[in-house]
Amino acid sequence: MSSSITENLEKVRHRIRQYVEKYGRIEQSAQLIAVSKTHGPDKVREAADIGQQDFGENYLQEALDKIQALSDLPLTWHFIGPIQSNKTRPVAENFQWVHTVDRVKIAQRLNDQRPDTLPPLNILLQVNLSAEATKSGTSLQELPALADAVAAMPHLLLAGLMTIPAPEADFEKQRLVFRQLRDARDQLASSGYTSCQHLSMGMSSDFEAAIAEGATMVRIGTDIFGKREPIP
Ligand SMILES: *Cc1c(COP(=O)(O)O)cnc(C)c1O
Repeated sequence: MSSSITENLEKVRHRIRQYVEKYGRIEQSAQLIAVSKTHGPDKVREAADIGQQDFGENYLQEALDKIQALSDLPLTWHFIGPIQSNKTRPVAENFQWVHTVDRVKIAQRLNDQRPDTLPPLNILLQVNLSAEATKSGTSLQELPALADAVAAMPHLLLAGLMTIPAPEADFEKQRLVFRQLRDARDQLASSGYTSCQHLSMGMSSDFEAAIAEGATMVRIGTDIFGKREPIP
């Protein structure tokens, strides 16, 4: 059992390298965020043993327990779940990256609660490109105002954009959505937000399309850790 994570991780790394070459992405490769939600600290440790440093978590309490249990390792933690406004403090205090900022109110709280002793919190703005009323994320129309607000907050660094598309099996249609996020990033970067460079996009089922369109971070869970366990 335990060797499967190692094997899966090697396979995912191989596929990322393959796609990076195939789509001419050699200069800026795609960083792997291993999404460890619902999987215990022992599994994270196993991935860390073969050099995986960046981990993504969705559920705050589960994440905090894991961060605590693994505090002997030099890991980088990415919060990729929905953020409730009354739970921003532990996110501001325990994570290096937040991928799911979609409102000024949440950004303001993260800024105010980021400890002075830590570097600015890296922020990715979540954009909703699939126009599903139930999904979180700001609209493209509201994105410039949100970027403006975050860029002005001293304890936050506007580092890029993130999206979770609606499930789509067709490769070219997957690419179209990711291309929209890249265009939005390009517009922000060229209108003065020079730190806005990252594109967090692509999961187990669509990361080839995401890399083809310029993903700088792919968030992969199932292909590394297997099927998710029930939420603890
Ligand atoms: C769970 C999750 C992932 C990983 O999805 P897989 O399909 O298991 O690779 C990526 N991003 C977000 C925001 C998630 O919630």
